[in-house]
Amino acid sequence: MLDLVPIQAKSLGDYGSVIGDDRVARIRAAAEPLRDARVLHLNATAFGGGVAEILATLVPLMRDVGVQAEWRVIHGDDSFFKVTKSFHNALQGMPIAWTAEMWQTWMQFSELNANLFDGEYDFVVAHDPQTAGMLSYLSERGVVDPGRWTWRCHIDLTEAQPEVWDFLRPFVQLHGAIVFTMPQFVREDLNLERVAIIPPSIDPLSSKNVDLDSAGVTQILERYGVDPKRPIITQVSRFDPWKDPLGVIDVYREVKSEFPDVQLVMVASMAHDDPEGWSYYERTARHAGEDEDIHLLSNLQGVGNWEVNAFQRASDVVIQKSLREGFGLVVAEALWKGRPVVAGAVGGIPLQVLDGQTGFLVNSVEDCADRVIELLRSPSAADQMGESGREHVRRWFLLPRNLEDYLSLFKKLAHGTAACSVPPMSIDVDNVHSEPLPRSRYLLDSMSRAG
Ligand code: UDP
Repeated sequence: MLDLVPIQAKSLGDYGSVIGDDRVARIRAAAEPLRDARVLHLNATAFGGGVAEILATLVPLMRDVGVQAEWRVIHGDDSFFKVTKSFHNALQGMPIAWTAEMWQTWMQFSELNANLFDGEYDFVVAHDPQTAGMLSYLSERGVVDPGRWTWRCHIDLTEAQPEVWDFLRPFVQLHGAIVFTMPQFVREDLNLERVAIIPPSIDPLSSKNVDLDSAGVTQILERYGVDPKRPIITQVSRFDPWKDPLGVIDVYREVKSEFPDVQLVMVASMAHDDPEGWSYYERTARHAGEDEDIHLLSNLQGVGNWEVNAFQRASDVVIQKSLREGFGLVVAEALWKGRPVVAGAVGGIPLQVLDGQTGFLVNSVEDCADRVIELLRSPSAADQMGESGREHVRRWFLLPRNLEDYLSLFKKLAHGTAACSVPPMSIDVDNVHSEPLPRSRYLLDSMSRAG
């Protein structure tokens, strides 16, 4: 059997205080036709990264509305996770030298995990490339209905290395539905009838996002030697080249020349499916040098959800200097705490950071430092942007909306209407940064049902 991830019970009713009781009732009604449906979410890790973060709330809320949802993780050893990380990098556009051995490793673990797959499910959602190969083995044996399987891709595939995507595509195509974060990520060489768009979301009531009082925040900061009275800029991200931790330090140094008191907090969790994390941590530490105002913190020092919550909340400005990004849950998390975000204009970030309204979109270290300095100079403008950010997230990026989207996807699959088609995402480009990312200039105006 694939390992079951233990789930904490959660109640959708508790979210009424954030999204309104009417909306809660509407979601419960939408779930009624799926009562007792057996749903499995499959991914590579129970901890670390955005997918685990979403499943930790999505699965319990599915259960709360009557769906029999489970979450299982696949097996893999270092060789497999090394290959899947290269896979991830190549799909995000990094040139990688592919070898037959890498493919073999991926196929071998896909088969092994297919052999460990057991149980009967009405719907299976396989997240990201790590799980994408299993269905091919299972459907070959005729033991599952591929039409009930969804591949949920959290990655921006627009610059995918062709050789790697060509290898992956036949595996992906077997799934009854293929879900992307935004329309711009959809590969045109897929069967578009089967494509659905579901942006990710955050849990406003989790320990990472729930309101904290300022005494609690101060206590946490002091525990890690961060001075709450001096300016703080923060990036929370895995140590990963795409998150540009070295660039973040360069930004901090430029900011420091204007604000000598500024402190930089970089929080990174080490995910077990991310073997690059350690070497990138070391590179970042070397780049930081002996500067005592740079705090490199991780789960290994006990920095968990409450601590991330406190650091995001205490920040004058939150940075997310990604060079590529699927969605960037950390952006929504910071905005939800009323903090402005200065972030790379990549992937799903422009859905969240509306340039000049909820933060600033940037394309270089210099831009990023200039915007951070601007916000440090005018704290009231920073607060105002943060407030707009919180409302933007409330409207579009909270978990109940994500739950609702999955429910409607399952209903479509149950009716055999593969026609998930790219759903109601209409576009308002005016608010969003113009260059140089024409493929990312879209603002959600979707889900009129979200009200
Ligand atoms: N995260 C965390 N601790 C860390 C680094 C990240 O809890 O030290 C969380 C972060 O708060 C967010 C998720 O991991 O919820 C990262 O998701 P995101 O979409 O930003 O990036 P990914 O890691 O999936 O590329």
